[in-house]
Amino acid sequence: MAWPELTPAGADDRKRVVVAGAGLVGLSCALWLQRAGHEVFLADRHTPDETQAYRHSASYGNACTIAFGACLPVAMPGILGQVPGMLLDRASPLSIFWRDLPQLAPWLMSFVHASRRDQVDRIVTVLGALLRATEPGLEPLITAAGATGLLRRTGCLYLYRNETEFLQAQTGIALREREGVRMSILNAAEIQAREPHLAPLYHKGLEFLDAYSIDTPRAYALALYTLFLQQGGHFLRGEVQGATRTSEALTVLLGDRTQQADRLVIAAGAWSGRLAARVGDRVRLNTERGYHVLFPHAGTLLSAPTCYPAHGFYMTPLGEGLRVAGTVELGGLDQPARRVRTDVIARKTQTLLPDVGAATDTWLGFRPSMPDSLPVIGPSPTDPRIIHAYGHGHIGLTLSGITGRIVAHLINGQNTPIDLHPLRPNRF
Ligand SMILES: Cc1cc2nc3c(=O)[nH]c(=O)nc-3n(C[C@H](O)[C@H](O)[C@H](O)COP(=O)(O)OP(=O)(O)OC[C@H]3O[C@@H](n4cnc5c(N)ncnc54)[C@H](O)[C@@H]3O)c2cc1C
Repeated sequence: MAWPELTPAGADDRKRVVVAGAGLVGLSCALWLQRAGHEVFLADRHTPDETQAYRHSASYGNACTIAFGACLPVAMPGILGQVPGMLLDRASPLSIFWRDLPQLAPWLMSFVHASRRDQVDRIVTVLGALLRATEPGLEPLITAAGATGLLRRTGCLYLYRNETEFLQAQTGIALREREGVRMSILNAAEIQAREPHLAPLYHKGLEFLDAYSIDTPRAYALALYTLFLQQGGHFLRGEVQGATRTSEALTVLLGDRTQQADRLVIAAGAWSGRLAARVGDRVRLNTERGYHVLFPHAGTLLSAPTCYPAHGFYMTPLGEGLRVAGTVELGGLDQPARRVRTDVIARKTQTLLPDVGAATDTWLGFRPSMPDSLPVIGPSPTDPRIIHAYGHGHIGLTLSGITGRIVAHLINGQNTPIDLHPLRPNRF
C-alpha cells in the first residue's frame, strides 16, 4: 500500500508530545512523531534496557511473529457455542477467573456481538486494510534503528490435526484470501520434510508466505529506544496519572512531577483503560492474558514459527531457544500468573516436539484487548489534544509501526489512507 509521506512540522507547528507507555506501540509512536518534527517525551516506569522490569510489558514476551494473515477477529461466528466446553476443559487454550465474571460481563457481551457474521465481515475488512499497511509502518523504523538483523524471513505454519479441523478452517482461509493474504497448503509429507522434529500429529498445514519473526521483540524495543534517545528524545520515568488542561496547554501528571505538553498520546497497552478514565474517556478495554514457556535447548528444532490453532499457541524458534507463546486467560491485570496454564503449554509442546527438552522460564503477559479485536487509534472525544493508541490484542507487534505512523499523521493534521472511524475510542 502506498502511504503518503509525512510532511515534517515547521518551526511554528512543532509540538511537545508526551507518549505514555514504552511498549512497542509507544516506542513506535515516539519515533514516528520525531520524524514528524516534534519534541517527544516518552514516559514509563521502566525502559526496554531494564530486562527484568520490562518483562511486564506485552511487548517483551510475545510470539514474535509479524502476522500479515491475522485479519480474523478472536470472536468468530459460532464462538458462543464453543466457549462453555473450552472453559470446562482445564487443558483448553481459554480460561477465566470466574470471580471476575460480573466485571467482565459488558466486555463479553460486546465480544459475543462482534462474533455475528455481519460484524465479522466488517472487522475483517478493517483489519485487512491495517495489516496491508504493516510494512509502511514497520520497515522505516526497523531500518533506521539498524534492526534488520533481528528479522527471520521464514514464513509461518498453521497445522491441522485432521480433515474436520481443516474443513472448519475454510471460512477463515477464504476471508484471508479475500484480504490478499498469500498462503499455500501443505500435505502431511510436505510438513514432515520441512519440520522433521515434529511428531506426526498433523494432517494438513497452511503456510503464511509473507510472515516473518523478530528475534526478539525486546531487542527490537531496545533498538527503537536507543534511536529515540540518539535523536534527542526525552525519557520521563514514572506512570502518567492524568492531565490537567487549559486552552493553551496540557499539564501531564507523573507522580510528584509534571510535564507541560501540547499533545498526550495514551499508548499504555492493557493499562490504557485506567489512564483513559483519568482523562475522562471510558473505553471497553480488557486484557486477554497470555503465557510463554521457554525451552532453551530447542531453538533449532523448527525452521519457522509453528502453530496448531486448536492448542492456541505458537512455537517460535529464537536464538535464546524455542519460545512457546499464546493461550487466553480472562482475569484482569492484578491476578498472579497460574502455573497450571504454563504446565499445560509445556506438556502439549513435549507431545508435539518430543525432543524439546525441559523448560526453564515462564512468562505472563497482558494483551490489550477490545471486544471486536480492533485497536483504538484516534483522538479523545472529550479533547482532541489527547490521542488514544492501544488495544491491539494479539497483533500489537505487527501493527505497532503503522499505529505510530497514523498517530504522527493525526498530530500533523494530515489524512491517512486508513478509515479511523471503526477504531474510535468511544465506539462501544
Ligand atoms: C502470549 C502473547 C503472544 C503474542 N504474540 C504476538 C505475535 O506473535 N505478534 C503480534 O503482533 N503480537 C503478539 N502479541 C500481542 C502483542 O504483544 C501486544 O499487542 C503488544 O505488545 C502491545 O504493545 P503495547 O505497547 O500496546 O503494550 P505493552 O507492551 O504492554 O506496553 C505498555 C507499556 O505501558 C506502560 N504503562 C502502563 N501504564 C502506564 C502509565 N500510566 N504511564 C506510562 N506508562 C504506562 C507499561 O509499563 C508498559 O511498558 C502477543 C501477546 C501475548 C501476550
